[in-house]
Amino acid sequence: MQRRSFLRNTGLTLAGLSLLNKQTLASFLEDPAWKIRMLTDDIGIFTEKGGTIAFLLTKKGIVVVDAQFPDTAAHLIEELKKKNKKPFKYLINTHHHGDHTGGNIAFKGLAEHVVAHKNSKANQLRVAAEQKLAADKFHIPDITFGEEGWTTKVNKETIMAHYSGAGHTNGDAMIHFQKANIVHMGDLVFNRRHPYIDKTSGADIANWIILLDKAIATFDAKTQFICGHAAAGYDVVVKATDLKAFGDYLGNVLKFTESEIRLGKTKEEILKAKEIPGSPEWKGDGIERPLAAAYAELAVK
Ligand SMILES: [Zn+2]
Ligand SMILES: [Zn+2]
Repeated sequence: MQRRSFLRNTGLTLAGLSLLNKQTLASFLEDPAWKIRMLTDDIGIFTEKGGTIAFLLTKKGIVVVDAQFPDTAAHLIEELKKKNKKPFKYLINTHHHGDHTGGNIAFKGLAEHVVAHKNSKANQLRVAAEQKLAADKFHIPDITFGEEGWTTKVNKETIMAHYSGAGHTNGDAMIHFQKANIVHMGDLVFNRRHPYIDKTSGADIANWIILLDKAIATFDAKTQFICGHAAAGYDVVVKATDLKAFGDYLGNVLKFTESEIRLGKTKEEILKAKEIPGSPEWKGDGIERPLAAAYAELAVK
């Protein structure tokens, strides 16, 4: 149990770190075991380290959403090949962070297409350049989309990528499996866990709240939402009510930070808060990160 919560917490702390740090991460984590859980007969989730992966298995081919890290992606690929002999049609990236796209490289020559929002691709290229990654260390999308989103049909399932502007980064898409009524939210939802908010990649808390409201209006009470990360003891598969709770949390982060600024508190003082008033369920490490992002966002206005 202790080890489990350690893994989860470490995953959060390192969630935004670059591809280069994966060796450090792996040595910390001592090769933790992966888990596969089916949500329907043909759609499941894979968890090991980093962001939750979703997959669809059909007689026409396999679709994977997000890729974690090269070593864990290899575990996923091995398991999916045992379950289904068809080709990997699409690898879709919810956004660019290393714990979601580091494993893209494991799909090189395997997945027919890699799909992402155009800002996600730009961010992947920027990070690769910043890290001076060799060409064989990353694998960028060959299909991109903008505001209009993207859609495809694989066997009987229609997959739609929705884009509603900046949230966790400026390139987060929600991937909807229409027939199954399942949406991979990527890091647009952290279930009861303080989120990473990537201001250097254009994150926008105010629009993130609007985007979650739109998602609640677009999907329904029965929709299963897959989140990138959850706190220890919380599920990575949630309902619309949990999206609402997370939107309220983000609103409370902004409200609290704004009132603290008005009281004349310094940034350092604000970051020392122990909890977000109105959202006591969000506990644990990392509270300073959303507060710093909120401070940056409010200070600009
Ligand atoms: Zn993540
Ligand atoms: Zn992320």
